[in-house]
Amino acid sequence: MIDACSLESKPLLTVNEALQRINAAIQPIEDSEPVDLKNAVGRVLSESIYSPINIPHDRNAAMDGYAFSSHECIAGHEFTLELAGVSWAGRPFAGQLQSGQCVRIFTGAVVPEQADSVIMQEQVQVDGQTVRFPANTAIRKNIREIGEDVKSGALLCDQPKKLTLSDIGLFASAGVDKVTVKRRLKIVFFSTGDELTPLGQALDSGKIYDSNRYLLNGLLLDDAYQVVDGGVIADDREVLEEALVQAANNFDVIITTGGASVGEADYVKEILERCGEVNFWKIAMKPGKPLAFGKIGRSYFFGLPGNPVAVVTTFQQLVDFALKRLSGAPEAKPLRFTATCTSALKKAPGRQEFQRGIVTQNENGEFYVASSGSQGSHILSSLSRSNCYIILPSDCAGIQAGDKVVIEPFSVFI
Ligand code: AMP
Ligand code: MG
Repeated sequence: MIDACSLESKPLLTVNEALQRINAAIQPIEDSEPVDLKNAVGRVLSESIYSPINIPHDRNAAMDGYAFSSHECIAGHEFTLELAGVSWAGRPFAGQLQSGQCVRIFTGAVVPEQADSVIMQEQVQVDGQTVRFPANTAIRKNIREIGEDVKSGALLCDQPKKLTLSDIGLFASAGVDKVTVKRRLKIVFFSTGDELTPLGQALDSGKIYDSNRYLLNGLLLDDAYQVVDGGVIADDREVLEEALVQAANNFDVIITTGGASVGEADYVKEILERCGEVNFWKIAMKPGKPLAFGKIGRSYFFGLPGNPVAVVTTFQQLVDFALKRLSGAPEAKPLRFTATCTSALKKAPGRQEFQRGIVTQNENGEFYVASSGSQGSHILSSLSRSNCYIILPSDCAGIQAGDKVVIEPFSVFI
């Protein structure tokens, strides 16, 4: 079988070429704003953060036990020390540790200055005020040193970075309660098509439910974005043009689905040409060949295909990269690795394919992937069953069961 694309007069852009063009075209947003640490997860850090303190701030115990000085230790022999007091977490031992003494200590409590060792409570015998240490007592152990995690003034996090919950925990441990992040990206998305029916209404003949806005709503869940669902636009040139031009005044990014191919009612590319600039509008990928990228005014425009599976694939392979770059986040490549394919896969040379698969791991840690079923770009059931892409290079002419393939999991949990 010959792929329809191989009959095109001009070779289509590869996915990689399209990514390069997106990369070259996009200017990351510059405006920043302060946010409370609690609201900073998922935002793009725009100032480098240095620690104002040592972490730990004090020398403290790594476990519940007894703090003592190694000078008290007699190698190879048991020894006893007198209990001088207690160091609680948050309430340090107030006295001076004298020779022949030790201190009861709890995890996180300050270790008295004269002590350099903590022994686990299970290893000693306590009799009233006397603590018996075993012959094999280890010294200079179980103490967390000042600045062992982070030294005062050290870099906690370099900008730019899309903040994770671990970053937030780290900043909190340093007492940093506000950070400066890039402002949120303003994104609007529309569905186009006369056949689209809102959920909750009965379907008339020839109509379909609008699944794309639900998909986009989920795909755009990201703390760095402020997203508006622009609704459905009919297949009407003027109405669509008016909506897009209007949106360009208010949003950084406009995303549409449908109307991007070459049918009679496909106005997207024509409007983009007239009201803005087309960077590209077709890519050698499957699903997802018609994909218009360009600008309307100062707004970046993505005209995605109508078929729902193609919406997801083009979003994940191209739009997501563009939005991350625009939001100022550093590039994060998706995790890809090799698996043994247990299904035969049909493919014609010509376009890079993102087939939907189900990856499993056996007890030896080896990965296997099977097709999730019918691969039409309108078949949402096989997308829903899948947990990964099987990525087939453009020149691949099909896969036999047992061949190795490259996969990209949708999440790291399978
Ligand atoms: P188009 O690119 O407008 O020709 O659409 C291609 C296919 O995708 C057609 O079968 C449309 O009915 C379908 N489609 C377009 N928009 C949506 C949508 N929002 N939800 C589900 N299917 C859609
Ligand atoms: Mg349409």
